[in-house]
This record gives sequence, structure tokens and C-alpha cells, in this order.
Amino acid sequence: MIIRDDVAVWVDESRCKACDVCVSNCPAGVLGMRLEASTVLGKMIEVVHPDACIGCRDCELHCPDFAIYVAQKGFKFAKLTPEAKERALAVRANKFQKLESL
Ligand code: SF4
Ligand code: SF4
Repeated sequence: MIIRDDVAVWVDESRCKACDVCVSNCPAGVLGMRLEASTVLGKMIEVVHPDACIGCRDCELHCPDFAIYVAQKGFKFAKLTPEAKERALAVRANKFQKLESL
């Protein structure tokens, strides 16, 4: 695992099987799936709004493939805003695909 301190959350796409679990658990709408024709399921995880990450680690703890990582506690994470909650709901309603507008 690569340790980073320049971003709140990052992914190792070579490990991701595009199961959507991290997206479904993120309370801040940070994550979303993008279309990716080269993968088996035709999509890939993307960190769409890294500045909105609150550091809850739910994505990291639920990923079955150890493909997504969250910065250590000292990182300055965001607060959970009403807008972020709304985005998380909208991403879920959009079948976990990332939204272009939010
Ligand atoms: S740490 Fe929490 S807020 Fe940040 S991307 Fe993961 S699930 Fe979302
Ligand atoms: S939970 Fe892990 S394997 Fe599933 S989409 Fe997220 S990063 Fe990929």
C-alpha cells in the first residue's frame, strides 16, 4: 500500500473490480463510477470530490479488494455538509455512477 499525505482518498485501479461497495457507503458523495470500456463490468471507481472527504474510512473498511485508501488521522478532512449528503443520495439514485452536475 502506498501512503500519501497530499490527498484525502485515493485508489489502486489495478485492484478494483468495480463492485460499487465503496460508493454505496460514502456519506459525502466523494466517489462515483465512471464508464470504462476496458474493464469487465464496463466501469471503474473514481474519486470525484476528494475535497469533500470527511475521513470516515467507510470506503476503505468495506472494500473487499483493498483497492481504496484514506489518509491518516492528521490529514485535514472536510466537514459533512448538507450538499455533500445530498450528493451522496443522488449518486446512489444514479446507480452509483458519478454525476456531472453535482
Ligand atoms: S473516507 Fe468516508 S467520506 Fe472519504 S471517500 Fe471514504 S467513505 Fe467517503
Ligand atoms: S469497493 Fe473496492 S473494489 Fe469495489 S468499487 Fe470500491 S474500490 Fe473498487
